[in-house]
Amino acid sequence: MTTGNRHWMERDLRVVWHPCTQMKDHETIPLIPIRRGEGIWLEDHDGKRYLDAVSSWWTNIFGHCNPRINERIKQQVDQLEHVILGGFTHAPVVELSERLVQLAPDGLTRVFYADNGSAGIEVALKMSHHYWRNVGQPQKKRFLTITNGYHGETLGTMSVSDVALYTETYQALLLDCIKVPSPDCYYREFGQGWEEHSRLMFRHMRKALEQHHHEISAVILEPLVQGAGGMRMYHPVYLSLLRQACDEFGVHLILDEIAVGFGRTGTMFACEQAGITPDFMVLSKALTGGYLPLAAVLTTEQVYQAFYDDYSTLKAFLHSHTYTANPLACSAALATLEIFEQDDVIEKNRELAQVMSEATAHLADHPHIAEVRQTGMILAMEMVQDKAGKTPFPWQERRGMRVYRHALERGALLRPLGNVVYFIPPYVITPEQIRWLAEVATEGIDLAVRD
Ligand SMILES: *Cc1c(COP(=O)(O)O)cnc(C)c1O
Repeated sequence: MTTGNRHWMERDLRVVWHPCTQMKDHETIPLIPIRRGEGIWLEDHDGKRYLDAVSSWWTNIFGHCNPRINERIKQQVDQLEHVILGGFTHAPVVELSERLVQLAPDGLTRVFYADNGSAGIEVALKMSHHYWRNVGQPQKKRFLTITNGYHGETLGTMSVSDVALYTETYQALLLDCIKVPSPDCYYREFGQGWEEHSRLMFRHMRKALEQHHHEISAVILEPLVQGAGGMRMYHPVYLSLLRQACDEFGVHLILDEIAVGFGRTGTMFACEQAGITPDFMVLSKALTGGYLPLAAVLTTEQVYQAFYDDYSTLKAFLHSHTYTANPLACSAALATLEIFEQDDVIEKNRELAQVMSEATAHLADHPHIAEVRQTGMILAMEMVQDKAGKTPFPWQERRGMRVYRHALERGALLRPLGNVVYFIPPYVITPEQIRWLAEVATEGIDLAVRD
């Protein structure tokens, strides 16, 4: 048994420090070593399989070891594994940029790259502020955002984030940003629709813009779904109103589509549902089909031109990451976009989303589920202590963890965010698998809400 789960777990725990983990938990919660993946399945070193219902941290969309993506990467690795992108270029980055510009909302014509989501957000924040300096408005240096947002783990991205669990400890290190209440429809009043609530909540945003626009560089937020904040959702009308107001007050709009891009919300990009074009759109996660780290920041010709001048004006964006637009990552992204094109993915997902809705509908009446909410291929169930008052279970009880452990036993990877159980599956999931997953989630929730 030198290759079983136990073997790898023991060796791991002697040297590896895992992300977003209290390592002491692994005294009681097993660490699961995965030896291979195929389609929606992950297989551990004891041969047990797990259905990957969270797309390995929301990245995978066409299954593990997808033959088409594998093939493209294999071809690329025999051609060119990496080259500096300063002064040099390569076919995969050119083709990928052309395709992204073609796919993105009208007006986004330039693509800058980074090597992970947080770094991509940093690019957008720096570029926005630098734009205002270049056009003679250096006083525009603050960022405005909504509560409960999440944009990454670096100091800049934590500054514009608002999930206390991840940011509170580091508050002393962060930028001073302005935050207004989120349009999160979980908090709408009884009988109120999503649109009405989101519209009403916009008054906070509008007021902040009226008051502070002269010092604000950009508004940044996650369009339609606040992922790490518990898959909280709002209506597209908020984004339409925000686009208008940003234009009115001369403030950039940065949309973080890192989690929601590439079909998660039912459209290729979430902002399409509001019919708007942001000044910056940041993509990562599913961009490479969940294969390799890569982020793309799309922006407008107007922003690009504000940096375009003689070197001596010092207007250039002198920002770089070592692995900017790595050719292997770009190839994975190209293969991913090809699958979207060839397989009519967005259309097929509509049926899957419908199955997700039907398979979980019974939970709406569950005494400890405050809400079952869905936007496209993201579905979330909010466990509460008291349904009527939406009183949350005390976080110390870690009820979500019980769902996680039950699902693992049954062979599903469901990793709740606190008390929010959610599905964000690869698009290769079948209706049958969705129904099975709903069963596992229901059992897990029933177990988790017992005293
Ligand atoms: C995951 C995520 C990020 C950060 O991306 P990393 O690659 O983990 O740095 C930023 N914004 C959103 C909305 C995300 O979901």
